[in-house]
Amino acid sequence: MINRLSTLYELQLIDDELDTLQELRGDLPLEVNDLNFQIQSIKESIEEKEKEKNEALKTIKSNENEIERLNTGLKKFKSQLYQVRNNKEYDALTKEIDHSEEKIAAFQLENEELENKVQSLKSEIEEVSPQLEELLEEVKVKEEELKTIIKANEREETKLRAKRETVAEKVRKADYNTYTRIRKALGGRAVVTINRGACTGCHNVVPPQRQIEVRGNKRLFTCESCGRLLVSPNIAAEVKTTV
Ligand SMILES: [Zn+2]
Repeated sequence: MINRLSTLYELQLIDDELDTLQELRGDLPLEVNDLNFQIQSIKESIEEKEKEKNEALKTIKSNENEIERLNTGLKKFKSQLYQVRNNKEYDALTKEIDHSEEKIAAFQLENEELENKVQSLKSEIEEVSPQLEELLEEVKVKEEELKTIIKANEREETKLRAKRETVAEKVRKADYNTYTRIRKALGGRAVVTINRGACTGCHNVVPPQRQIEVRGNKRLFTCESCGRLLVSPNIAAEVKTTV
């Protein structure tokens, strides 16, 4: 039983140290994430606008080809006007001419609208580009900062992680699950001890009877106030000297 309690406490001490290392990183990981998210969405919006712009340019080009083709036909029809032999032929030709001119006008109008669209897309892209540059610069600085912090403690962290793995293997599966659950719910500390009659997790008084039971090291007890696992001061002191 003592072993069961002390390995749990040992795991907690290692996690405390790992938590301290994480805290050194401060808000940097979150900030980097947030910046990358912003950068991603700006990039996506630029990509979308570029795509829209290129599609508009493609349509403009094909409309221009159509206009050219219609103009060639128009020239032909107009020259044929001089060779008509009757009204019926004349009417048919003028109809073709009108029709072609209408189509040309429609394509020209569409192209004007598309040119406007291309221009406004271009300026929208140009507008966000400096913002993107700024964010990229900012994230670069923060990532460097974070890297420096991580690198400074890399060796210690690797050592702690290896140690944690060894200790975690010795913890019973059920205890490990309880430990993880409490740690998640209460943020960090899952195994605590008693100091001057109070739980070191929540600082509430542990009833004398419970204190005696905890000191007996016969069972896994939890603090009635915060729900954290309690180990006796003896075990805590002993583990501290070995860690
Ligand atoms: Zn407590």
